[in-house]
Amino acid sequence: MTSNCVFCDILSGSISSDILYRDDYCFAIRDINPKAPVHILVIPNNHFTFLYDLNPTEHPMIGAMFQCAKKLAEAQGLEDTGYRLVVNQGSDSGQMVDHLHLHLLGGENLGAMNTSN
Ligand code: AMP
Ligand code: ZN
Repeated sequence: MTSNCVFCDILSGSISSDILYRDDYCFAIRDINPKAPVHILVIPNNHFTFLYDLNPTEHPMIGAMFQCAKKLAEAQGLEDTGYRLVVNQGSDSGQMVDHLHLHLLGGENLGAMNTSN
């Protein structure tokens, strides 16, 4: 746990939030400022800022995060319509919370990713 981290505070219970899913590796909450009808954050229990900070020992945690995202996408009825998983890393991505997390977005047409530039 890291001080001054909103996601660590949610996991410890010092900030209240509805935890949708939790296991030994990660937990999931709804984004407070949703960018799509379904916008869920999958967050590792341990505080890491960047993928760069992860060692091979954390690979099971990465697998658990994707498994969690897949299960939540199914539970939200997104399996047939599709969804997007996003990890923001650093200033160019607009990363606001420095605790690694996976965004699960869906429930509407999200548009194609612009690959023209
Ligand atoms: P990022 O820009 O990838 O760092 O995304 C951080 C996300 O965390 C943003 O979409 C915020 O809306 C979301 N967020 C920040 N604080 C909270 C909170 N207390 N509960 C839920 N989501 C939050
Ligand atoms: Zn944290």
